[in-house]
Amino acid sequence: MADSAHTNIVIAGGGTAGWMAAAAFARFLPRGVAITLVESDAIGAVGVGEATIPQIRLFNRNLGIDEGDLLRATNGTIKLGIEFVDWSGKGSRYIHAFGTIGRALGLVPFHHYWLRHAQAGGNTSLWDYSVAAQAAAADRFAPEPGRPDLPSGLAWAYQFDAIRYAAFLRDYAEKRGVRRVEGRIGDVMLDGSGAIASLRLEDGRNIAGDFFLDCTGFRALLIGGALGVGYDDWREWLPCDRALAVQCASVTPLTPYTRATAREAGWQWRIPLQHRTGNGLVWCSAYQDDGVAADTLLANLDDDALGDPKPLRFTTGMRCATWRSNCVALGLSAGFLEPLESTSIHLIQSGIARLLQLFPADTPNPAEIAEYNRQTQREWESVRDFLILHYHANARPEPFWAEYRRRALPDALAQRIALFRANGRLFREGDELFTEVGWLQVLLGQGIMPDGCHPIAQALPIADLDQFLGAARRHVASLVERMPGHADYLRRHAPATPSG
Ligand code: FAD
Repeated sequence: MADSAHTNIVIAGGGTAGWMAAAAFARFLPRGVAITLVESDAIGAVGVGEATIPQIRLFNRNLGIDEGDLLRATNGTIKLGIEFVDWSGKGSRYIHAFGTIGRALGLVPFHHYWLRHAQAGGNTSLWDYSVAAQAAAADRFAPEPGRPDLPSGLAWAYQFDAIRYAAFLRDYAEKRGVRRVEGRIGDVMLDGSGAIASLRLEDGRNIAGDFFLDCTGFRALLIGGALGVGYDDWREWLPCDRALAVQCASVTPLTPYTRATAREAGWQWRIPLQHRTGNGLVWCSAYQDDGVAADTLLANLDDDALGDPKPLRFTTGMRCATWRSNCVALGLSAGFLEPLESTSIHLIQSGIARLLQLFPADTPNPAEIAEYNRQTQREWESVRDFLILHYHANARPEPFWAEYRRRALPDALAQRIALFRANGRLFREGDELFTEVGWLQVLLGQGIMPDGCHPIAQALPIADLDQFLGAARRHVASLVERMPGHADYLRRHAPATPSG
């Protein structure tokens, strides 16, 4: 590789990962850098990945994308959280809502006051204090419902058509000079040092570059195929290995949240868009055969399926290194975590941000590559642990769930649960994705109630606590009352694009 600034970047693959990277590079790298993206229309993109988390708003904002334009182009809806249904047995439900819950008093997080109240016999729900949870329950949304002196703590994400999102970003990237090459990569050519030199297309064209992104999806043609980087398999904790995805017509009300319903040997998603609803079942093939899985999915749709379910197979885990030599893997080529908490698109986003931070000036420096890999692994493992919590703490009776409840936990997760169980303490380390409030909701929602709470909260007289919590509930209720319906909001600000 030439010992000079990277002027020629080649992105292999044009799914969500490829076009997100192309758009971000076109926006943030200097003008002299040439960006080429190679994708195959015949292969296409995976076409799932429709539920996001609030950080995506930052990505789009940094690109200068207007929220209304994005929602219109992708037939998107607002997402205020994920509702988990039947995880603690039939009929149970809770929401992992975005944003904050309540207000801290001094140094002590809000939930300790709620715990103190609950432990003293109070019967309010934690989610009475979450604007997002209450708005989701009422199918309402407005972006700025609060007053500056009393912020709402509301955060939101999107549910959108993944193919349209990639097309939207393609348009953005091409307008900023990204060159798109249509063709099928047949070979990945290495130079004498073992770095990638070029992509050889099946029609004989050669696409040379200094730096490569592997965005070829599950195929991982560069990082896995040419560079031979191995895969760390996490199925011992996250055993699901198959999915079926199918769409059906949208129904009313247009719910501003994704739903994840636990099933016999996995779980089912429901993602409402403006023009249709995305559905899918994720399951473990060792516990359920494909036919039963398909029947389960099709029997649990809002409306008739629009077409046949699309099958997908995967192995939960990640590459042993997501940056090797002059190649970084983003998206499915980097690894796979099931979409239980809608984290994959975010992991693409944070991979891009990390790469821009560490972008090599010339030949990649081993210390910078190691740092990228260390940070990426830490982030993925923390998301993995958050997902494992759903398998560990649930009360489903089926053999599949009983088995994965019993599995030994990664040490960091076991410690986190023990710490919470004792006195409700939660800490977010470094730049971990999930906040204390995210962990709190899933721990409580999955049935783990602490034995105690912070002593400062214990010391607050119950009458003062009643007053504090009462005011907090009224604040949330008044904000939600002022919001329009979610469907009305979209109709006014971001009506769907009819065709397609
Ligand atoms: P792909 O979309 O597969 O794109 C690969 C690209 O590489 C395509 O353009 C293809 O044409 C190209 N390519 C491959 N081989 C060649 C070749 N030989 N020559 C030329 N081009 C080639 N994420 C979320 O954040 N939220 C969700 O709700 C969510 N749900 C999911 C549900 C399921 C069942 C699955 C499997 C994933 C889900 N994900 C979700 C993950 C999400 O779909 C992916 O992270 C995202 O779509 C990125 O995919 P990708 O771009 O890496 O791969």
